[in-house]
Amino acid sequence: MKWSWNLGKIFGIDLKIHLTFFFLLLWVGFSTILNGGTTAVMLGEIVFILALFLSVVLHELGHALMARRFGIATRDITLLPIGGVARLEEMPEDPKEEFLVAAAGPAVNVLIAGVLFAGLLVTGFFNQPLSMNMLLENFWLRLLSTNLILVAFNLVPAFPMDGGRVLRALLATQMAHVKATKLAANIGRGIAVLMGIAGFFLNPWLILTALFVWSGAGAEASTVEMKAGLEGLVVRDALINRFHQVEANQPLDSVFQLSIQTGQQNIPVVSNGHLLGIIRRQDLLSAIERLGQRAPAYGAIGVEPKGLDPETPLAEVLPRFSTCRVQPVVEDRKLIGLITPESIQQRMWLNQRMNNTSTPPPSEKTDAV
Ligand SMILES: [Zn+2]
Repeated sequence: MKWSWNLGKIFGIDLKIHLTFFFLLLWVGFSTILNGGTTAVMLGEIVFILALFLSVVLHELGHALMARRFGIATRDITLLPIGGVARLEEMPEDPKEEFLVAAAGPAVNVLIAGVLFAGLLVTGFFNQPLSMNMLLENFWLRLLSTNLILVAFNLVPAFPMDGGRVLRALLATQMAHVKATKLAANIGRGIAVLMGIAGFFLNPWLILTALFVWSGAGAEASTVEMKAGLEGLVVRDALINRFHQVEANQPLDSVFQLSIQTGQQNIPVVSNGHLLGIIRRQDLLSAIERLGQRAPAYGAIGVEPKGLDPETPLAEVLPRFSTCRVQPVVEDRKLIGLITPESIQQRMWLNQRMNNTSTPPPSEKTDAV
């Protein structure tokens, strides 16, 4: 994540803190002073926020260490003003494992609350007459109740909250993974609507959370649907093997002619059949301006994507398209074809048709490589 600082490693996982988190500390400090608090009160508030975020780190570590038990690594844990995010390499697809990974976070907060409760009990805190004010005034009691609030909040059965994953895992023991995700996402959306409405009357913060939940549910459902649609398909299945390529020393004006005549937007440059790189339309125009029409094609190469193996699962190559709309496919070091998001979409649609599901056909854009 941008704008985060590395705090170090914990159990071999990078711990990062987002810069906006410091604004939260500043804001807490200033608002305490503005409300007439002393420096001691202000410091107390800041220490409380830090203790709360330590609870959040432990919560995220709960997810990460449980995931590690199932062989899933965690890229990093980032602290944001709204909470923590543990970026797991993937979520386990086995419902039992997913349940354990999702539940491990809130379980840590239950544990913290339990330890704090035991501590207060042993020190005789509960022997004195108790009042509601103590919930705000006693540091430990406040930390205990906030941990319980974290548990309740995280267990709301809506993506991207832990409760959403727990719900999906429970549903997935009864039905297919995709169906369970859709159902869990719809329940999440329903909760988001209720949250949004409640937010108008109670607290605008709820409206923000509702938006977060709504988009999280949609994203989760479409990723899982996409992954399911691509299951069993490899790069070779979506291969476009009719395309034009140019030699490295071919002059740029002939590359331009080819691009105009064929409508091909991205042209691979080869030397003896070996891929050197790709000239995108924008690279071509700027290179002609910069180098002149007679310059060799290799001068216009804009991206040098690593060739894909034809047997790579399609689900794995999706992130690649963020840099170039076309990816070369290489076998025995020779360029054998190209794939594009459109060729993948068409292949997926064909696959779904054969499995008798009804999705509208993708737009006719296969030729625009
Ligand atoms: Zn969590």
